[in-house]
Amino acid sequence: MTVEMLYEKDVTTNYLQGKKFCFVGYGSQGHAQANNLRDSGFDVVVGVRPGKSFEAAKRDGFDPKPVAEAVKDADVVQMLTPDEVMAEVYKNEVEPNLKPGATLGFSHGFNVHYKEIVPPKDSDVIMMAPKGPGNLCRRTYKEGFGVPALYGYYQDASGHAEDKAKEFAKANGAARAGLLKTTFKEETEEDLFGEQNVLMGGLTSLIETGFEVLTEAGYSPELAYFEVQHEMKLIADLIYEGGFKKMYDDCSNTSDFGSYTVGPKVVGEASKQAMKESLKRIQDGTFAKEFMDDYRNGFKRLNAYKKDMESSQLSKVGAELRARMPFVNEADKYSTPEA
Ligand code: NDP
Ligand code: MG
Repeated sequence: MTVEMLYEKDVTTNYLQGKKFCFVGYGSQGHAQANNLRDSGFDVVVGVRPGKSFEAAKRDGFDPKPVAEAVKDADVVQMLTPDEVMAEVYKNEVEPNLKPGATLGFSHGFNVHYKEIVPPKDSDVIMMAPKGPGNLCRRTYKEGFGVPALYGYYQDASGHAEDKAKEFAKANGAARAGLLKTTFKEETEEDLFGEQNVLMGGLTSLIETGFEVLTEAGYSPELAYFEVQHEMKLIADLIYEGGFKKMYDDCSNTSDFGSYTVGPKVVGEASKQAMKESLKRIQDGTFAKEFMDDYRNGFKRLNAYKKDMESSQLSKVGAELRARMPFVNEADKYSTPEA
């Protein structure tokens, strides 16, 4: 292993002991981290605007406050709004009210790495990025375990920024599962690359294209859905559990042979070049600019893509089939914030 995994016993400093945490945002990560830190014995205040999250924080026994007020006497301010609004919230509400020397924390490096947010020089700027959705982080914490996390720092004003990041991750339950060191640059660029090329963008395009080829050739949309989308989870589970080997061992020789011979033709040199191009656009800031420009333009492009996706034949057929398979919605209980 080139990267060392740290566990609870490896995190021995106490720079965050007795410190007051402010969580800005109470969504997927905000609700999980605020509850976990409170259960770990920290003084926690939640900063949100009036609305759904504000009410959720109240239901969970917090006394939520407007962001500008909540950050005032906090020692650690963890920024957990959506990435596209974070710089505005920071500029208008956090920066003018931040206690001198307060630590600023993030779960994704986007705003700091692309300099949408420029933190004050006297602040430690740390990262505590759980490698899983908020509800899973909260549920596993309550079960006495946790989700692994990345930790790191962008700015070390106190000389203890890295220790603070590790302590924060431990308090969030992550050190029971393992902590991995990173930098803001690495986390931001890798995260964007992964979601664009493989996990979300690559995967959905692969499914969609497979579905189109089958249905355009006259195969039924229902069978095509099962073939290229429904089974994806079963294959992904095997790969998650035991790598490609377990997946190949569990499948037939016919499918193994076809997979080895055809796969690299489908995702071949052209895809590799497209991935390299995407990485370049991430590294030189072109993607970040394109995303923030669309946000400032009312997310016209993002909303159009979403509408197209929702009205596609694949989405419609999938929704109808899943409605007849209630068992596939088991996972739903982990994908919406707890009341
Ligand atoms: P969500 O969209 O789930 O939640 C965002 C929260 O911010 C909501 O409580 C929302 O409140 C609040 N908010 C939105 N606008 C404002 C505003 N103007 N002022 C105050 N509060 C506001 O975000 P996530 O938890 O998914 O993401 C937070 C951060 O964590 C991001 O940096 C993301 O990249 C990172 N991250 C997320 C992961 C995940 O599992 N989702 C995993 C790892 C990192 P309201 O209800 O009022 O809109
Ligand atoms: Mg990611």
